[in-house]
Amino acid sequence: MEYLTRTLKYAAARYEFNFHPMCKEVRLANLMFADDVLIFSRGDASSMMLLLRAFSTFSNASGLQMSATKSNAYFQGVPEHIKQDILKVSGFVEGKLPFNYLGMPIQTTRLKKADCECLIEKICSKIHNYGARKFSYAGRLVLVQAVLTNLHSYWASMFVIPKGIICKIEAVCRNFLWDNSAEYRRVPLVAWDKLSCSKEEGGLGLKNQEIMNKAMVGRLVHWIMEDKNSIWVQWVKKNYLKGKAWMEYKPTANSSWVWRRICKVKEEMIPGYNDGTWTAQSEYSPAMGYEWLRERKPAVPWHKWVWNKHVTPKHQFMGWLYAHGAMRTKDKLIKIGLDVEDSCFMCAQTAESIDHLMCDCVYNRRIIQEINQKLQLSFPVTDLLGWCTLKTGTKLQKGIQFALLWGTVYSIWQQRNKSRMEGVLQRPERVAKSVIDEVKARLNGRDFRMLTKTDFDWLKFTQLCV
Ligand SMILES: [Zn+2]
Repeated sequence: MEYLTRTLKYAAARYEFNFHPMCKEVRLANLMFADDVLIFSRGDASSMMLLLRAFSTFSNASGLQMSATKSNAYFQGVPEHIKQDILKVSGFVEGKLPFNYLGMPIQTTRLKKADCECLIEKICSKIHNYGARKFSYAGRLVLVQAVLTNLHSYWASMFVIPKGIICKIEAVCRNFLWDNSAEYRRVPLVAWDKLSCSKEEGGLGLKNQEIMNKAMVGRLVHWIMEDKNSIWVQWVKKNYLKGKAWMEYKPTANSSWVWRRICKVKEEMIPGYNDGTWTAQSEYSPAMGYEWLRERKPAVPWHKWVWNKHVTPKHQFMGWLYAHGAMRTKDKLIKIGLDVEDSCFMCAQTAESIDHLMCDCVYNRRIIQEINQKLQLSFPVTDLLGWCTLKTGTKLQKGIQFALLWGTVYSIWQQRNKSRMEGVLQRPERVAKSVIDEVKARLNGRDFRMLTKTDFDWLKFTQLCV
């Protein structure tokens, strides 16, 4: 391929060769990636003959043949008789825009919803494959993050994606997170806007796709700003900027839609520049651009309690749901008009609500009493979140207490669902034992060589680590 590039360069250097009018200033005749080649020239016979001769020289030297019937020629403003001559001599097939290059649509018009349908199909098929297996909320969250990150790394780094497509992508991810399916089947437990807040702000740290898209395109804005040594930047400077300062530049009405969108993102980013330097930090990165562009919310006090490293991910997610009051208990179903009998599945004495399940129910109290007795601790029995505000204990001790707390919340909810579906309820002693065993199992994988004497004595005292 290097030899082909050299041969084409040699052909383009001949005085009979005419560059494409938009590529003349940067003397660009070809773009190549792996075995995909794009050639640009003015639509005339002499330029075409030189290019065909270059391909013939390459074939003679390498033994590789260009497949003319698999190659397309795209014309704009070329007289019909010249076009027919070129097609006849080259054997190329006349192509119509848009076409795909490296998986991206190449077109002169605005990117429409229909052009991005393949993106949705790709995401849906991925989600469909994931949906065939049973994942916990925490597992599905990791997969949603992976799907959205992949999206950033390609399409969103080059185009401002239509808002309708972003909404659709978010809807597919949202349905999968809440219901293990690409299709909408029931109301989400927490609104998507909240999910896209950072964990400190009470969200799940998922990225708002519209803002992330701008932050990715912002990298192109920054490249022009720092005059990066790339063909694209040089091409833009010669064809659009034409010596004008980037920060003051306004696109003309006949500029391409991609370019106009990039300029629009630039307008939003201007306040982030100070005398040509990105103010947030010296080097621009999409992650940093995202933080700069997004609207910040106040931090919630409970984020450190939930997202503690000692807590198992599936328990963290349940803790996060609990903190949002987002468990679908009977009182909520009745509120939206469903005709359900209101009594608690565990004690059958009181109406079911989150507060009752997690604080007042005798079943829950017995689990906590059991944990207190087994570990010689004194957690408040009727105030679950009171555990979190306990002032005593080291960092490690608090972390383990959070692990016990969210493990208990997870188990209570699991038992409640089991009772609803199968009519079976495990004894509180057994539930307490499994919560403790899970915390012990997580502790067993830790390296305790750097443990302080206080923590060592506490773990021995509670018998969590022998
Ligand atoms: Zn109850």
